[in-house]
This record gives sequence, structure tokens and C-alpha cells, in this order.
Amino acid sequence: MENLEYRVLLFYKYVTIENPEKTVEEHLKFCKEIGVLGRILIAKEGINGTLSGTVEQTNKYIEYMKNHPLFNNIFFKIDAVDGHAFKKMHVRVKKELVNLSLEEDLNPLELTGKHLTAKEWYEAMQDPNTVIIDARNDYEYDLGHFRGAIKPEIRNFRELPQWVKQNKEKFEGKKILTYCTGGVRCEKFSGWLKREGFEDVGQLYGGIHTYGNDPEVQGQLWDGKMYVFDQRIAVDINKVEHVVVGKDYFTGEPCERYINCGNPDCNEQIICSEESEQKHMGSCCDACRLHPRNRWVIKHGLTIEDVKRRNLELAQTKEIN
Ligand SMILES: [Zn+2]
Repeated sequence: MENLEYRVLLFYKYVTIENPEKTVEEHLKFCKEIGVLGRILIAKEGINGTLSGTVEQTNKYIEYMKNHPLFNNIFFKIDAVDGHAFKKMHVRVKKELVNLSLEEDLNPLELTGKHLTAKEWYEAMQDPNTVIIDARNDYEYDLGHFRGAIKPEIRNFRELPQWVKQNKEKFEGKKILTYCTGGVRCEKFSGWLKREGFEDVGQLYGGIHTYGNDPEVQGQLWDGKMYVFDQRIAVDINKVEHVVVGKDYFTGEPCERYINCGNPDCNEQIICSEESEQKHMGSCCDACRLHPRNRWVIKHGLTIEDVKRRNLELAQTKEIN
């Protein structure tokens, strides 16, 4: 009988790839052959990807990579899931694996922070002379993060170096820990921190993902959920206690449910309850609700007059409150 259990794979490897275009072609062909879905980026500096498929399909992929001259010792992070977590298969060439936009690029194979296991990370986090920097985007942090971690006030990963330079006094003389989803962003970011002169820099090897699956640590000191770039959106990390840190965008109430703003040009990720979604027509603001191609408005068969009337009602309830 066919095994219909599914898995999600998450992986990266920094390795010099002479001809990324050719590697993309081969890779896409193989992925289509075996039927996995997901997103893989290939750059001159390596590979970064996430895929879903049946156990059989994902095993074929892992086997293929094991026998690949460039990718043979990749560490795969594996999650059991109910079905495919992606709709399509994309393999693309990129300039960088992660967009840090450094003037002078950095090779994590030559310079990077100390790799910490889940257990080492758990202990290092509790050292009072330590600062923890979340190396992800703000909307990822908002859904869940390590207890006490700093949220850099940035919209994009590439703004992170500038933010560190502006906040240097926060980190001077401290041990720095940095983490991201699977580890690929921190390989580079922690290397950059070292190049900037910070001496004691540690990174969570295998990322939050590996930390959550560690049988001993069991995700302790993680609050909320982990944002993931597939259809699951949010996954559990802390297996010992669950503290909700996400807040409803409209009411501020504790919430862990994500939607995308109905305006296709905005598409902002909003944390909100079912009730708030209905009330605010699945969109972040008045202008987005009135967008002529608003998906939520179309799906619910509202006319532009309906939307205008409800926008007015929303404005009035805001004034009363
Ligand atoms: Zn919007």
C-alpha cells in the first residue's frame, strides 16, 4: 500500500556553485519527476530550500542530495504534516541566498558565529550577560519569539546591519546570540557581527525548527508560535508550555491566527480573529477595503456601496470607543 503520510523538509547549505543556472535546471527536472512541491533558491554561494511531499517522495529527494557532489552532507529539518504544504514547485537562481545586501559580501564558510546545539542555546540564553537578537522579519517575531529576545525595528533582513550599527551600545561587552527559522540567515548575520568586531557571537544551529524538535529541551523559553513560509503559516515550538504573544491587529487581544490583507497589492500579514476578520472585511485599512480587486470583498459578494457603508460604521465605532 502507498504511504500517504506527508513531510516538510527545510534545508540549506553554503557551498560554492559554479553554474547556478545549470543546477537549477537539473534540480527542477528532478523535483518535478518525483512530485515534491516547494521553493528552492540556488546562488553561487549555495542552496536554500523548503519542500513538501509524501514520505516516499521526500526520501527520494534526500537520497538524491546525499549522492550529489555539492549537496551531500546537508542537514535536513523534517516535519510530519497532513498534506502538501505548497501549491507549486519553484527552483530559482538568486544573487544571494539571504538578502543582507552587504557592500562587501561575506562567506559564512570562512567567518560565522559559534554553532550552538539546542541544549547549549537553552543554557546560553539564561546567562544574564547575553543579548538575543531575532534575525527575522517583524511579522515573524510578532507571532512568536524566544523569551527576552530583541526585536530589531526593521522591515527587512537587509536593514539589520544598519540597525545594529545604530544600536551598538546595547551590545557592547555582551555575549550576542542570534537565531532564525532554519539557520540560513544567521550563518551570514553572525559572520557579519564578528567582522564588525563583536567577539562572542553564537547562533542557533538548525534554527528554531531544530530547537523545537529537540527531545531534551522541547522548545522551552520559546513563546508563541513559529512563523513558517508554507501553508501551515504557524507551528508549535514549545512543547512544555504555550504562552500566546500574538495580538489581534484590530483589538489587541491575544491571537495566533494569520490572514493576508484582501487587497492583492497590499497583502500585509495581519494577525486577527475570525470575528475581527469579518468585522474589518479581511483587510488592514479603509483604503485596502476599497481596492477594486479586494479578494475578501469579492469572495463575500459585497458591492462598493456595502464597503463604503461598513467603512463608515467602523469609523463610528472607533469614535465611540
Ligand atoms: Zn492592506
